[in-house]
Amino acid sequence: MTTNHHAHTRFSDGVGEPAEYVEHALAAGFTAYGFSDHAPIPAGDIGSMKLHELATYGAEIDRLRRVFAGRIDLYKSLEVDYIPGVMNVDSPHIKAARLDYTVGAVHYVDYLGKGEPWSFQRPNPVFERGIATIFANDSRRMVERYYALVREMVENYPPDVVAHLDRIKKRNVNGRYWDEHAGWYVAAVEETLDAIAGAGLIMEVNTRGIYLGEIADTYPSNWIVRRAVERGIRLQVNSDAHRPQHVAGGFREAYTGLRALGVEAVWQYAGDSFQPAEILLTSPS
Ligand SMILES: [Zn+2]
Ligand SMILES: [Zn+2]
Repeated sequence: MTTNHHAHTRFSDGVGEPAEYVEHALAAGFTAYGFSDHAPIPAGDIGSMKLHELATYGAEIDRLRRVFAGRIDLYKSLEVDYIPGVMNVDSPHIKAARLDYTVGAVHYVDYLGKGEPWSFQRPNPVFERGIATIFANDSRRMVERYYALVREMVENYPPDVVAHLDRIKKRNVNGRYWDEHAGWYVAAVEETLDAIAGAGLIMEVNTRGIYLGEIADTYPSNWIVRRAVERGIRLQVNSDAHRPQHVAGGFREAYTGLRALGVEAVWQYAGDSFQPAEILLTSPS
């Protein structure tokens, strides 16, 4: 396909300059590309992009727009954390960044203590320490809290695109922490899909797990994508690349999966809004 809306550079936790991502996007045949590094988190400046770098990030994308004009359309975005009372898409520094669109995500679920936000993406022992200290060793409570935060974001501070809906499953390989077929889990996911549908937001199908070999599926899982399709939720496929060579990683698998679900188009940013783009699959070369 022709674009990717969610990826990172050295401005946050990615590797490589923005220009290298554009070169790889061109090589992948993209006609558009959107930068969405992690937004700075001003409180404590704990984010992977520091607040003082935000203006430089924006200026670099503006510069690349001029350099690559006529070859590829470049868009400016940020992956914006939702942290209650701390950070959302309406935060002053996000508004001031004059983004084309926003990608919204929950990575932090409450606090480890002493005001230290706990990211469920942290490897063990921090991951399990969070479950133990915040949720009394009850993984279900952690997961339900995560989805409740996603719904808060969707309903109160809606981004344009909801990132990697079930990213919370990252460390749940082989159901190590909870059963992803349990009724309570399906209910939490469905309630969140209802919120996304109600707010009319775009949901991404994130391929990062595929090309990293983290999981064999997308974020969210195929069964969740199917239920999103049933609700008429608009979709887009993103790689969430953190290296230039991953800009289109896992796209073939993801688009093939969408077509198998009867999805004919994804929603891509073009000009100043999201537009439907037909999924055209070519045979593998
Ligand atoms: Zn993310
Ligand atoms: Zn990301």
